[in-house]
Amino acid sequence: MRVPFKYLGLEIGGNPRKKKFWEPIIVKLSTKLNTWKGRFLSMAGRICLIKSVFTSLPLYYFSFFKAPEAVCDSIVRIQRRFLWGWGRENRLISWVSWDNICRPLEEGGLEIKDVRKFNAALLAKWKWRLMSGEKGVWKYILLSKYGTKLNQRGRNQKKLSWWWCDLCKSCGEGEEVSWFHSEMGWKMGSGDKVRFWEDTWASSRALRDIYPRLYSISLNHRSKVAEVGEWEEEEWSWKLSWRRSRFQWESELLDELLRVIDRIKPRRDTTDIQTWGGDASGVYSVKTAYDCLAKSTRGRPNVIFKLLWQVKASPNVLVTAWRALLDRLPTKANLMTRGVMINSQPCVMCGGGIESAQHLFLDCTVAQRVWNRFLRWMGIAFVQHRELMYHFEQFHFPIFNHNQNLLWKGMWVAVVRCIWEQRNNIIFNQGVADDDEILHLAQTKAWLWLKHRLRCFNYSLAEWYMNPIHCIKS
Ligand SMILES: [Zn+2]
Repeated sequence: MRVPFKYLGLEIGGNPRKKKFWEPIIVKLSTKLNTWKGRFLSMAGRICLIKSVFTSLPLYYFSFFKAPEAVCDSIVRIQRRFLWGWGRENRLISWVSWDNICRPLEEGGLEIKDVRKFNAALLAKWKWRLMSGEKGVWKYILLSKYGTKLNQRGRNQKKLSWWWCDLCKSCGEGEEVSWFHSEMGWKMGSGDKVRFWEDTWASSRALRDIYPRLYSISLNHRSKVAEVGEWEEEEWSWKLSWRRSRFQWESELLDELLRVIDRIKPRRDTTDIQTWGGDASGVYSVKTAYDCLAKSTRGRPNVIFKLLWQVKASPNVLVTAWRALLDRLPTKANLMTRGVMINSQPCVMCGGGIESAQHLFLDCTVAQRVWNRFLRWMGIAFVQHRELMYHFEQFHFPIFNHNQNLLWKGMWVAVVRCIWEQRNNIIFNQGVADDDEILHLAQTKAWLWLKHRLRCFNYSLAEWYMNPIHCIKS
């Protein structure tokens, strides 16, 4: 049989460190996220497709091999082109950086998976399976093929196979803090597997790292917990050995150490079990591992984005609001900043002012008329904030409960979307600015969402026009 050959969809005998090995994945991804499909999808549809394509890709490649940097770059490039390369803005501009796109929704991102972190989380599962007491022939095959012992961290790297090296690298070994090992812990049994000084079992760090002085004079290096004490009838008693007598201050440290380890004593008749700290069940999962990896690049959650994605509105409208709040819509001001437009052109709605998101949605006289009439329709009066983010946040009323406030915020989203649509209509279809039409469309849009999304919403369009507060409140 000639190598490489395919077995269960996986290429056997190929070299996963070469880009050519990953070509089937790249081709598959390009086919799924191809230009033809993008043309007919809204941005929300494209986001959805990018997310779902990952689950339909041959994941066994990513769960067994570490993808080279060039391959990860190609995957991100395909995703980015698909996300931004369509619609009226047919010139490819990545309006939001890919790092931010991969952030959680409440941090202003879109929660698209970061391919490198996802790859590492999938790979680390092997390490978990090898280290936790799982039994099976596969374990012997892997260990004999890639020939190494567990816990060979920091040992002679040259003797390790490439697969094992990639696995260790994905687990963050060799870095100051390994994301994988910092989540690994032990559930103490008889103390037959846990190493007293080197493993994390009594505290959030290994005892070696907390008490380096005591470790340096200990004779129990690499001893298992069961070897550092004995059963005296039914009582466990610690028997630590030292290579010299201790100074007074070292004895004080020892007292402290004993207080820490006395909380967890070995138990007879059970074996030690490796646990994964990232999940309450103590068992490794790719999802919790991905979250652990993403933790390092996390920013601060922003309540505005958290609320935005809870709003009951169609996803595509939410995407427009998301871009408006981030000021990442292709307004003329933004196109000028990116060098697409050379001359500054006035706002098409009012004929004055530079068209930025701030102007278009708040400062523009047309927008102001829309908001004023909108609030009058709702029968609510307040001084409107001059910044878009806070303007959105302002749509919160004590007389409404949380869910009613989300409906109310949905109407903010509807107005923003309708202003944007009319602006596009003027530029691309020679439409005219009409605040009456914007308001009317926003009212109808909001009514349609409520009708489709809330089973208990039984009001007619006429009732909605007449008394929106009553419709939202009941
Ligand atoms: Zn204007």
